Amino acid sequence: MNYNKKSVEDIDVAGKKVLVRCDFNVPVKDGVITDDKRIVGAMKTIEYLVAQGAKVILCSHMGRPHNVLDAELKLDKKEKKKIAELPAEEQEAATAAALEKGKKDITKLSLKIVADDLTKKGIPVTLAADVIGPDAQAKAAALKNGEVMLLENVRFHAAEEKNDPDFAKALASLAEIYVNDAFGTAHRAHGSTAGVADYLPAVCGYLIQKEIDVMGKALEDPKRPFVAILGGAKVSDKIGVIQNLIEKVDTLIIGGGMAYTFFRAFGNSIGTSLCEEDKLDLARELVEKARAKGVNFLLPVDNVIAREYKEDSTFMRIYSDSIPDGWMGLDIGEKTQELYSKSICGAGTVVWNGPMGVSEWENFAGGTRAVAKAVAESGAISIIGGGDSAAAVEQLGYADKMTHISTGGGASLEFLEGIELPGIACLLDK
Ligand code: AMP
Repeated sequence: MNYNKKSVEDIDVAGKKVLVRCDFNVPVKDGVITDDKRIVGAMKTIEYLVAQGAKVILCSHMGRPHNVLDAELKLDKKEKKKIAELPAEEQEAATAAALEKGKKDITKLSLKIVADDLTKKGIPVTLAADVIGPDAQAKAAALKNGEVMLLENVRFHAAEEKNDPDFAKALASLAEIYVNDAFGTAHRAHGSTAGVADYLPAVCGYLIQKEIDVMGKALEDPKRPFVAILGGAKVSDKIGVIQNLIEKVDTLIIGGGMAYTFFRAFGNSIGTSLCEEDKLDLARELVEKARAKGVNFLLPVDNVIAREYKEDSTFMRIYSDSIPDGWMGLDIGEKTQELYSKSICGAGTVVWNGPMGVSEWENFAGGTRAVAKAVAESGAISIIGGGDSAAAVEQLGYADKMTHISTGGGASLEFLEGIELPGIACLLDK
């Protein structure tokens, strides 16, 4: 995989119309943005383009709009088929209901709230009423150097997620240069994340550039020892990452629910802990492979176990070889925390994805907290995958101590698996 991609600084943008794919998929409650991190994160690239005198056309998705709509509020094929299967007398009402739902989504998932927020933050933004329609075209054509506009939610078009070439072409026709700065959707080959690059010179913005630089470097030329910490619920979700990282790391630390599939694979009793019976052979293979490669493969030595999968369940600490029937492991124990912290403490590079236990519940959050602290204090180049581990790090106030917190959960996982992300592969090589 080539991580050496051209960025906004490698292309002349002055006076050019530049289409920038951002990730403005922010959480909104009662008409208020509850977390504006993604908007703040996008500003560096936008401000650079404005300072260079580009004509900036921003675009993004927000949420999952009801898939029946086009900007013109038509039903898509799937929805039409569903309605056609209904008794004739019900079809009219079903069509009306689907269109009505579509209209609501258009209001609820409009990017107006983002345009207003950017304007409040000091970047005046005009919102187009559509994505590739007449209003977008007119507003894009009228843009002056240094001005910024935002297209409506690209997912108002079903063609976006289908990566329909006609849609991508129409979107590209608004601009002369394409900048992808939405890492969170870079693992998806959609019209605005990859398709447009077939028609425009494509480069990355600062957000994607940092993701590629830090994570790419860790995979290609890590400062050693290289320690990977993988947790979360299931082995099956992390197989690709484990397989790719086994080839590269010095130490692989396993925590979370997935640890119990490994225990079971080696004949330990695990009570009612999470276990993927169909992954036992694979778990053995992974441990064998780690051994053959000389990778230090660490599993919990003790656990916090609970009677029930409940926040207020009775719990106790126990060694890994003696989990009794009727109890389930919901976190790593204190001895394991110490052991893992020691390994992390001497690391040159740490990559972490997935909590060490059910960190949403206080009684089972200790392991994740201890690991977050160890990573923060390690002095290592620290890379946190999105999702629960990122949330834990932020909650505990360690975010500033990390080298990089990825802005994409799914995308960072695929990146660490060594998969080429369409939204990055489509960019020009340096
Ligand atoms: P993932 O999305 O795969 O990273 O998994 C995150 C989820 O794993 C969180 O919701 C945790 O509650 C859950 N989890 C972590 N450890 C355990 C465990 N020992 N048993 C059950 N669920 C767990």
